[in-house]
Amino acid sequence: MAGNRTFTMIKPDAFEAGNSGAILKMIEEAGFKIVAMKATRLTPELAGKFYEVHKERPFYADLCAYMSSGPIIAAILEKDNAVEDFRTLIGATNPANAAEGTIRKIFAKSIEANAVHGSDSDENAAIEGNFYFSQTERVI
Ligand code: ADP
Ligand code: MG
Repeated sequence: MAGNRTFTMIKPDAFEAGNSGAILKMIEEAGFKIVAMKATRLTPELAGKFYEVHKERPFYADLCAYMSSGPIIAAILEKDNAVEDFRTLIGATNPANAAEGTIRKIFAKSIEANAVHGSDSDENAAIEGNFYFSQTERVI
């Protein structure tokens, strides 16, 4: 059975552009409940840890630099079938391929600066939520 939580980040490009509120509104209107949230900033080392699975990819160094270039918002979201439904809401990694009306289609600037993160599995949603939030920060 699919889990009911996923993890998201509003990435530096969207935060800097002042799109956090509009993105959170789309997330809530799609039926997701925000069960933990904070504004924070990654160091390059922490960005490297978060994206370790991509360390052999050619874009890894740029991605770590970009993800630590400014503030982000990290949040745990709750909804039935959360992981899959959230990936549908955000759209394809490359905004050029993202469906109309998706968050990335509306707000992403490029394949790298693509506005939001969404976990790709229930297992990673739990790992990523735990990366950002301690047990005492997850009071809901
Ligand atoms: P997604 O975020 O859609 O799950 P991936 O897990 O494949 O995509 O990649 C993680 C992040 O790395 C992307 O969201 C994007 O910021 C960046 N990225 C992915 N592919 C590329 C690429 N070809 N060039 C530059 N950056 C990329
Ligand atoms: Mg991914």
